This record gives sequence, structure tokens and C-alpha cells, in this order.
Amino acid sequence: MTDVTQLPSARLPSGGHWRNWVGNQSFVARHKAEPSSEDELVSLMREASRRNLTIRVAGSGHSFTPVVATSGLLMSLKNMQGLVSADLDRKRVVVRAGTRIGDIGRALKRIGLSLANQGDIDTQAIAGALSTGTHGTGTQLGCLSSQAVGMRLVQRGGSIIDIDDDRDTETMAAAQVSIGMLGVISTITLQAVSAYNLKETLWREDFDSCMERHDELAANNRHFSFFWCPVAKSRHLYCLPDVTSVSKIKREHDVCEMKVMNVTDEPPSSNEMTFERVAYSSEIYPIEYIPELPWTRIRHPCRKRERGSATNPRVDANQAYELHLSGGISVCRRRLGHAEPVLRARERDNFCLWRSGNRLLGLSPRRRHDPSAVQGATALGKASFQSRR
Ligand SMILES: Cc1cc2nc3c(=O)[nH]c(=O)nc-3n(C[C@H](O)[C@H](O)[C@H](O)COP(=O)(O)OP(=O)(O)OC[C@H]3O[C@@H](n4cnc5c(N)ncnc54)[C@H](O)[C@@H]3O)c2cc1C
Repeated sequence: MTDVTQLPSARLPSGGHWRNWVGNQSFVARHKAEPSSEDELVSLMREASRRNLTIRVAGSGHSFTPVVATSGLLMSLKNMQGLVSADLDRKRVVVRAGTRIGDIGRALKRIGLSLANQGDIDTQAIAGALSTGTHGTGTQLGCLSSQAVGMRLVQRGGSIIDIDDDRDTETMAAAQVSIGMLGVISTITLQAVSAYNLKETLWREDFDSCMERHDELAANNRHFSFFWCPVAKSRHLYCLPDVTSVSKIKREHDVCEMKVMNVTDEPPSSNEMTFERVAYSSEIYPIEYIPELPWTRIRHPCRKRERGSATNPRVDANQAYELHLSGGISVCRRRLGHAEPVLRARERDNFCLWRSGNRLLGLSPRRRHDPSAVQGATALGKASFQSRR
């Protein structure tokens, strides 16, 4: 543990309002600070602790849940970014906690390394992504936190601890997904791998054929994912290209937009006719998201029902999909409860598709209480994640 008693306490700047990326969480913090060095971070922690304030750090605010909220001191480490050091023999790098995943990929590429796996957005701060167990796809691959092998944490009061997987496996395991509860992460040591290229292939299938091929595709590809798109507009929420020309299925509603990615020795290329691309790993993983997803608009169908139209809820497939995206579909189902039967239209090991009359209500996880189902869901990777979100 590092002695920080000689460091002065900082003056705490005034606070203000904060909201997350999607806008479903907001709060007012009494103080807000953006330290640009670890010493400054320590001083802020000391002063906030002295005043008995709660302390939280915001990463990039991509979490949907109130995991950043505080009435005390809110910090952002956006001024604490970048690669600190690299051990090329062990393929390990130390990064500052506020570094964006995309920037880590770019830095690793320059030194011949890659992240073993990552999710499909790369704008999160690495500390936030690790702390929430952010994952990508791949039945044989771990989530981002599994790549963390060391961490430097500033704790309440300002003391610093260094955790190292080689010396203290158990503490490291606890720190890997701590949701900010063990202190403020200052730096992270990541276990990288030799640089590799990925080949991405996109196409479209109907729901039944996607379900039939699901296990085989997940087993035979390094990465497999799909987005179920109940209406044509759904595809645009995730900026997915129109792959009709390379797909047997020509319609755009109730379809699955499919993606596989595999390691390849092929040089970088992009073929807009076949919807295949080859590039350095971290250039293939991310997809584009529109920051104005309908999470903020989904409340309306629920409110309508709350105001008394429960016997005839007007939920069309599009609204249902929006509800599903927001996680609001379970609320919707509860409220529909006695109004009319909600049918389980299709069922897989880990999720169900719900339908009421001719209205699609969305997807929900099945056997939530069963740990083996959760493991199965993890193995199913992206598909199950999309269905749970
Ligand atoms: C469009 C979209 C797509 C998504 N897709 C995926 C996906 O494919 N897979 C997936 O798993 N998730 C996904 N998510 C969820 C999201 O990726 C994670 O919640 C996110 O990675 C959190 O990172 P963040 O930097 O935004 O952290 P924040 O949400 O800002 O913070 C998360 C937690 O980490 C803590 N924290 C942040 N920095 C520090 C620090 N330095 N020290 C200590 N604690 C800290 C915070 O206090 C908080 O408790 C998606 C989210 C969105 C909006």
C-alpha cells in the first residue's frame, strides 16, 4: 500500500447534473471533478472522505442502471487516458483507467498486439467496461474483465493498493467486476495477445432458420451474433447494412441480421458486394450505434395502459420491440397480464418470444432462476444478450 499522507487534500469543485448516455439515469452531484493525475485523484479522495461524502466515478455512462449515481463527489477520469507501459515479452500493457477501448485497440495495433476479445461498442472507458462485466461474443472467449491481470486502486481516504494476478488471484478476481465498490481504479494491466485480423461476414435469415442453425454457428465460428428485427425499421437502430443481395430471404421484417467473425491470415479488404470485411481485430469488433435509441421514448405505451386502456393495449410490433430494447417488456407483460392471454410463440433454451393476438411483444429470458440457464445464455453469447437487454 502506498503512503499518501504527505499529499495535500484538494479543494472540491462545485457539482451539477449528470445523465447517462441513453438518458434513463440522471442525478445531481454536490461536487464534480476531473483529475488529470493520480496525485490529484488521491487528494480529491482524501478531501471527499474527510467530509464523509460518497464517491463515484463515471466511465462513459453507457450503463443503463444507477451504478454511477452519487449525491457526493462524482469524478470522470477522461483526463487520465493512454498507455502507461508495455511488456512485449508477456504481451501485457498498463493503461490509465479512463482510456477508451477503441484507443486501447489503436495503441495495441502499433505495438503488434490485440485485445483477445471485446464488445461491439468501443467508446467506453476501460475501467467502466471492466467493472460491469462488459462482454462481446464467442463461446470460447472470456469477457473484457477476464483480460485484466493487474489493477491500481485508490481507496477511500486516498490510500493506494496494487493488485496483481500473479500474487493475489482472489483479490484480482474480485476487482475484475467491482462496479466501482472497491475504490477508484487508476490503472489496469491487460493481458493482450499477438495482433490478429478478423474476417466479418454478414447476411440475413428468417427467425426459424436462425434458430435451427444457432448452435452450429456458435460452435463453428469464433464469434456469432444476430439481431432479431421484427420490423424493417429495427435494422436502422443498429445501423445495420441492407444485406438483401447476399441473402436468400428478401423481406426485412421478422428476420435475423446475422454476423460471424473469424481469425484470418488474409490482408485487410472490404467487399461491399459480399458484405465481407477483413481488418485488424479492433477495427472489426465495433458497430455503430445511434445515441438516440428509443430507450427514452419507450415509456409511452406503458403510460397509456396505466391510464386505463389496459383491456385493449395498443402495442404494435414496433412499440413492443422498443419496449424490449429498453428492458420494459417485462413491465409491459405484467400490465397486460389479465387483459388478454400472452402466448409464448417460440421458445429456445434461454429465451421466449412472446405474442399477444397478432402483436409481437418481444423476447424475454427463460428460466431466469436456473444458474445452468444463465451459463447457457452466456455460451449463446450475443444472441442471448440482445434478448435480455
Ligand atoms: C448502445 C449500447 C450497447 C451496449 N452493448 C453492450 C454489449 O454488447 N455488451 C455488454 O456487455 N454491454 C453492453 N452495453 C452496456 C455497456 O457497455 C456497459 O455498461 C459499459 O461498458 C459500461 O462502461 P462505461 O465506461 O460506460 O461505464 P459507466 O456506465 O460510466 O460506469 C459503470 C460502472 O463502473 C464504475 N467505474 C467507472 N470508472 C471507474 C473507475 N475508474 N474506477 C472505479 N469504478 C469505475 C462506475 O462507477 C459504475 O459503477 C451496451 C450499452 C449501450 C448503451
